[in-house]
Amino acid sequence: MRRIDQVKEFEFSELPLLNKLISTKEILWLNPKLEKFETGITKSPLTQDDVRDAEERLKRFAPYIAKVFPETKPMNGIIESPLKRIPSMKQFLEQNYQQPILGELLLKCDSHLPISGSIKARGGIYEVLKHAEELALQHQLLTIQDDYSILDSARFRTFFSQYSIAVGSTGNLGLSIGIMSAKLGFNVTVHMSADAKQWKKDLLRNKNVNVIEYESDYSKAVEEGRLQADGDPSCYFVDDENSHDLFLGYAVAASRLKKQLEELEITIDEHHPLFVYLPCGVGGGPGGIAFGLKLLYQDHVHCFFAEPTHSPCMLLGLMTGLHDKISVQDIGLDNVTDADGLAVGRPSGFVGKTIEPFLSGNYTVSDEHLYTLLKELVDTEGIHLEPSALAGMIGPIKLSQEGTDYLLKHNLTEKMSKGAHIIWGTGGNMVPEDMMRQYYQKGLNLTRTKKNP
Ligand SMILES: *Cc1c(COP(=O)(O)O)cnc(C)c1O
Repeated sequence: MRRIDQVKEFEFSELPLLNKLISTKEILWLNPKLEKFETGITKSPLTQDDVRDAEERLKRFAPYIAKVFPETKPMNGIIESPLKRIPSMKQFLEQNYQQPILGELLLKCDSHLPISGSIKARGGIYEVLKHAEELALQHQLLTIQDDYSILDSARFRTFFSQYSIAVGSTGNLGLSIGIMSAKLGFNVTVHMSADAKQWKKDLLRNKNVNVIEYESDYSKAVEEGRLQADGDPSCYFVDDENSHDLFLGYAVAASRLKKQLEELEITIDEHHPLFVYLPCGVGGGPGGIAFGLKLLYQDHVHCFFAEPTHSPCMLLGLMTGLHDKISVQDIGLDNVTDADGLAVGRPSGFVGKTIEPFLSGNYTVSDEHLYTLLKELVDTEGIHLEPSALAGMIGPIKLSQEGTDYLLKHNLTEKMSKGAHIIWGTGGNMVPEDMMRQYYQKGLNLTRTKKNP
């Protein structure tokens, strides 16, 4: 509880919510620093041009990706996931919480992104590709006019094998960085925190990735990775806490989503608001996507981050204005959650500050809740997500029940029935079947004990 006094000095008015946060109750927090897009964007260190540049780079790599990851061939090497309506789940939510959800309910299935089965297949893979391109251009092995499928050759793999890549991860980022780097020929080391699952470590080791395990949490794994990389000039460290490249790789999702919404004939404009609910760990994934969406839809999109009640690091950083200067441990929370990827005690300061003018709010969700929603999504829609990926699912209910101030303030109450809610389903496809069955069983048990107390 080192920092609690400092917190009190910062935001007296927020103390009731802070106390709830400390007692691990589920809360919805509305961001008082949300601005009109027009003024918010003037404070941003990144622009639409940066996102477009990332988009172009991914297009250059598409022929290579299609060649080395055949599952991406149908999409010509573009790593993208489906957007689906989930009407049966919507019905369940409405009945279970006695709360109508006005507007459409959709699931963005990043759980089914090719190559690494999670949201990290966006930012993580993008950053590795960008680094590889820089090296190859520098050494005049490649021009940006080339067909990048030439990278799938012994010549390039030998070249990249002189370089190494390192990353600290709770698991999913390690999968993305590890799989992509190893495929290109890099020496790659993943520093895994204690909560990382065994199957993820095994899978990476099978792909010739060095996995180093730590008995501490994510922040420590990152610190160790950074330290080791610092001493080696041929080693590139993927810095999940500060990387602009990761952030931009995620932001590309927005223009892809726009196309998918158009294909589903869902309009987003001043009469048709869009609400997006994104599970948040250190912040890069949800931050990048929210940033990309704000660039496209400006004040017509409303982004909310979702975090576990035991790891609400971004909420705490934003609420107190302390960003990465405070951790959930500082307010006495244990940062223990089954939500892989969300067990982060200290948020990215870069993401927190970048997203501050754009984020509508942030809420917390208990692990029990994640499991019961996981089970219901299987029963209603036949879709299997990992627990963390369910954090967004309760968003529309929370907003309708606890966010009426927000809806009124932004003139949204009347528009809700013409709007759309997108739950960002951030992972799940790579989870082994027996583990998925355990998740489902846990959800089932929790549902039963709730019904028969
Ligand atoms: C990493 C991850 C997130 C959150 O992304 P951050 O960039 O860490 O905020 C959400 N869901 C899953 C499944 C993840 O692996």
